[in-house]
Amino acid sequence: MAEARYATIISTGEELVSGHTVDTNASFLARHLTENGLRIRRILAVGDDPEALTFELLRVAADSQVVLITGGLGPTVDDRARGAIALAARCELVHDDESLEHVRRVIEGYGHRMTDAHAVQCLFPAGADILPNPRGTACGFACWVGEAMAYAMPGVPEEMKAMFTGSVLPRLTGESRERVVMREVHTSGLPESRVNEALVTLLEIGRNPSVGLKARGGWVTVCIRARAATAEEAERLAEGDCRAVEERLGEAAFGRGEVTLAGALAQVLEERGLHLAVAESCTGGLIGSMLTDVPGVSSVLLLDVVAYDNAAKTRVLGVPAERIEAAGAVSREVAQLMARGACEVSGAEVGLSTTGVAGPAGGTARKPVGLVYVGMCLRGWTAVRELRIPGERQRVKDRAARYALDFARLEVLKESAETGSLGRRRRGEKACG
Ligand code: AMP
Ligand code: MG
Repeated sequence: MAEARYATIISTGEELVSGHTVDTNASFLARHLTENGLRIRRILAVGDDPEALTFELLRVAADSQVVLITGGLGPTVDDRARGAIALAARCELVHDDESLEHVRRVIEGYGHRMTDAHAVQCLFPAGADILPNPRGTACGFACWVGEAMAYAMPGVPEEMKAMFTGSVLPRLTGESRERVVMREVHTSGLPESRVNEALVTLLEIGRNPSVGLKARGGWVTVCIRARAATAEEAERLAEGDCRAVEERLGEAAFGRGEVTLAGALAQVLEERGLHLAVAESCTGGLIGSMLTDVPGVSSVLLLDVVAYDNAAKTRVLGVPAERIEAAGAVSREVAQLMARGACEVSGAEVGLSTTGVAGPAGGTARKPVGLVYVGMCLRGWTAVRELRIPGERQRVKDRAARYALDFARLEVLKESAETGSLGRRRRGEKACG
């Protein structure tokens, strides 16, 4: 394989090092550079400190062929990147007339008048290539710092992205001989350690494709990165690993790329001609919201109600008041009756429900904050899961909603597996009467 090219990304700005702004520029750039065959040596953030920038630039130019710098090209006193980069490049700053015209046009387009401060934006290290800014005043530039090619871009994310895509990326890929394809396989219901165990031979360091794990919100995503001389070969390698991951993880691997848990459930229902009705209490419509984010979900989703008050559970879902009284609103029995009621009022084959204590108040010794019952009804047969979700209110709601979506998906898949196709009775679960 071709010799690797290394890149370093330097984000500049006091707002980044003080923690007031999240460095989204670096993640955007890292992703695009990686996809285009460069390896990221490191990502740095420095304040509006020209000496620090010059120092870091000289240091990273020793082991990176490409350095991308964002921020500090504006007209204000804190915008000091151009001088710092010129110093590292051992060049004078020189004035460029064409950029002056560009700055004037943009400023006057906003109905403002040009000031002396803007003239700074027309200074560039001697010999640099100027990179046009289609979204703002500050042009970027490319110049050599030692053996590295440094690209300076504005910090405003929208301007940086337009410049990177329009002027920087074409120059980088023109020279690149390596192609990278990245894929993600999402899993549910398994802790990271179990996913790790199942994929241990794929996770080996130095392997191509490289496989890594990303845990987020209780769910683990497997990230696959394949490198090859051609895009087709990289694609083939990545696809091979996606399949290997899916095979090893079975039903826990619910989708790839943009697929969500709600999308995966909608697909499973659609394939089997099933319809869904949801009755939510503690999740307050979150399950419905996640489902309605899926385009085309109307072919499977019939109903989503938030039955928060006990009287609403009775009136809307037909849960008998005396059963709520006896068992309590947060109980297995009420979860079961809510799921069944959702099916009955809508005609759906699949019902899903939640009832729980989201907190921070309202918990008791027997029913603490974080206790959630998720009910499910499939053609009249019901099942309930009891969850204990630690954390604050939003987290309890979010985890419960995701769990519910996945519970429904797995139960429908299980039924299909047991019956060979579209099942009838459920095995091992009690009928609810
Ligand atoms: P600058 O080009 O340095 O004047 O930056 C202009 C604005 O862009 C800053 O005030 C931030 O709001 C935003 N910005 C700069 N750098 C970044 C970055 N690395 N990630 C996200 N936003 C940024
Ligand atoms: Mg700045």
